[in-house]
Amino acid sequence: MNLNVLILPGDGIGPEVTAEAVRVLRAVAAKFGHTVTLHEGLLGGVAIHRTGSPLPEETLQMALNADATLMGAVGLPEFDSAPPDQRPEKGLLGLRKALGVFANLRPVKAFAALLDSSPLKNHLVEGTDMIIVRELTGGIYYGTPRGISGVGAEERAVNTMVYTRPEIERIARMAFHLARGRRRKVTSVDKSNVLENSQLWRRVVTEAAREFPDVELDHLLVDNCAMQLVLNPRRFDVVLTENMFGDILSDEGAVLAGSIGMLPSASIGDRRPSGAWVGLYEPVHGSAPDIAGQNKANPLGAIGSVAAMLEYSFGLKEEAAAVNRAIEAVLASGKVTADLKPPGPPATTSEVGQAVCDAL
Ligand code: NAD
Repeated sequence: MNLNVLILPGDGIGPEVTAEAVRVLRAVAAKFGHTVTLHEGLLGGVAIHRTGSPLPEETLQMALNADATLMGAVGLPEFDSAPPDQRPEKGLLGLRKALGVFANLRPVKAFAALLDSSPLKNHLVEGTDMIIVRELTGGIYYGTPRGISGVGAEERAVNTMVYTRPEIERIARMAFHLARGRRRKVTSVDKSNVLENSQLWRRVVTEAAREFPDVELDHLLVDNCAMQLVLNPRRFDVVLTENMFGDILSDEGAVLAGSIGMLPSASIGDRRPSGAWVGLYEPVHGSAPDIAGQNKANPLGAIGSVAAMLEYSFGLKEEAAAVNRAIEAVLASGKVTADLKPPGPPATTSEVGQAVCDAL
């Protein structure tokens, strides 16, 4: 297979972690007999510096032509007080919109070697392996009417939570498809005891489930889900939820994994005729200006994003599993960056990338 991938290193530690992710991508492709075609583009602060725009037209076209896009992170302190339209983050939002990536997937896995880094008791976290499927382009973050009006005692603020049946159907189907490649269980999370919006969500998800009789479906109210995530995280396989609930629950899930530098993410759009999903892959962390340029950043979130890309955009499950196994081997060896508090001197970003390639 030829893997046609666009790399958008971005700002801060973005270029450092993507360099290691690319190294691992090349290594896993060579091991399994695939070829890799890479293009590199500008996004974020670096793109503003070179072209005046956080998302140059050329980058957009490259992303539309690639099979998958791997991103580092965007954001530079010098743009912190710039108007929203001229900020690096605007480029990322524009890219997500242009690619139509409506589902954000966050795998949450407790690595054996990091159990002590979790604030939860080891026996609770051990064996956790779930994926949170968050709807990314609808719900209360986008609904209208919205705004603040009135003055004094009359002042009021309105946000609107809107979902249409097709929006719920497509994200539900994606969750069920993913569950088929895992332990075949979907937990749909809503607030249907209070919100009409959630009542529609629950009804449509239940109807969609009939197309997937081999996948078990259960429903949880979001408040109970928040509790179960820390009481019994192993009960979850695929967690399906709307935009705002997913935003909150996925940060709670992140605590289970140890460090923010560990976490990969995938934002997925429609399926291509080949069956592959359009995808944008990036570590969850930002550009970390405090450690940029020092070869200190943990590249494992970016490397895990390569595993997600192999699995979702290319359907290469064995290759994805090999990358994840190599990450685990490196964690177990203790050759990790400072954020994971190794017993000895911390490894550099590039040493960790090389160690993952060696483990592969
Ligand atoms: P951040 O994730 O960049 O950093 C938070 C803390 O975590 C810092 O102390 C940093 O050193 C540490 N950290 C982050 N990634 C790490 C890694 N891989 N290895 C080791 N330590 C790591 O969040 P922030 O400081 O709030 O934001 C910095 C910039 O990044 C801002 O401009 C923000 O807008 C941007 N940002 C971008 C994205 C994105 O591109 N998707 C996401 C979040 C923040």
